[in-house]
Amino acid sequence: MARNKQALGLGLAAAAGAVFLTACGGQEGASDGEANGALPSAGEVNVYSGRHYDSDLVLYDQFTEETGIKVNYIEAGGDALIERITQEADASPADIFITADAGILWRADQRDVFRTIDNETLEARVPSQFRHPDGKWFGLSKRARIIIYNKEMGLPDGLVTYADLANPEYRNMICVRSSSNIYNQSLLASRIAHWGAARAEEWAAGVVANFARKPQGNDTSQIEAVAAGICRLGIVNSYYTARFKGVDDPDAAAIGDRFELFFPDQQGAGAHVNISGAGVTRNAPNAENAERLLEFLLREETQGTFASGNNEYPVVEGIDAQGPIAAYDDFKADALPVAALGENQAEAVRIFDRVGWP
Ligand code: FE
Repeated sequence: MARNKQALGLGLAAAAGAVFLTACGGQEGASDGEANGALPSAGEVNVYSGRHYDSDLVLYDQFTEETGIKVNYIEAGGDALIERITQEADASPADIFITADAGILWRADQRDVFRTIDNETLEARVPSQFRHPDGKWFGLSKRARIIIYNKEMGLPDGLVTYADLANPEYRNMICVRSSSNIYNQSLLASRIAHWGAARAEEWAAGVVANFARKPQGNDTSQIEAVAAGICRLGIVNSYYTARFKGVDDPDAAAIGDRFELFFPDQQGAGAHVNISGAGVTRNAPNAENAERLLEFLLREETQGTFASGNNEYPVVEGIDAQGPIAAYDDFKADALPVAALGENQAEAVRIFDRVGWP
């Protein structure tokens, strides 16, 4: 049964993007009535996931083998899934919403997607920094938003902190993606939390003044531009770098050889850290099963696999990162509770608009 479910998942989710998978044939929406009607199955859990990694499916299979609870899932972008859950309202079959970035989890909570979970296991496994204070969502893995630099050009003299990125000595050096992206909104939100809005705005204006080019592309584009020498510095999420470091593909490895990672603020507050995380939805028809799956994903023996699917760091303390990112595991992380990223998101967006960070 588990093998069949995985085959359906790999085939349909990959091909169709947002198809709700069912036990009985994988028709879109076919299981809504089953999952949410008069006879809710105790043997299922429905996952709406912003992730798309084969390793997640392997873990879902292991969970099914152990518990007999079948995992149905769809995969789509975080904001698209929030929209879908909101529109499905009381009829939503979603039990768990998984997404990247605490800023998206916060947006989901603003739309009343989650229920409050009072679960001692989850609270014990996830450090309080990486979960919602009332149990609306829990971190499952971590990532850092860091600086990369072109190895041939070197790290510019005196660059130590995020604040330094606004230094006028670094004109025309920085590549970073658009401010419409949640990663930048959360990074600026963390600056607001640390410094206050006025200083954060000065900083953002200084970074804009140091752009090597107009923001374009995703974090991978910034890595390629830094490797090509288009810009000396880039701001990217840590897991993107792992796609070029310690990999077999010669083209990717050649890019990986031309840039290096730099974790800022190691003498100060630490590097900005964010999460991938999940919560149980307000209308979850299988809420108990949902909590069991979250507990499963936070176990010692599953955390490494879950995190490594996207070259992230385990959120549970004391578990080593796996794969290429393990070489970049030893850094001081910011202790800021990630809930603060959502709280300062609206202010961050206003600042980006004012300073002209497109
Ligand atoms: Fe990403």
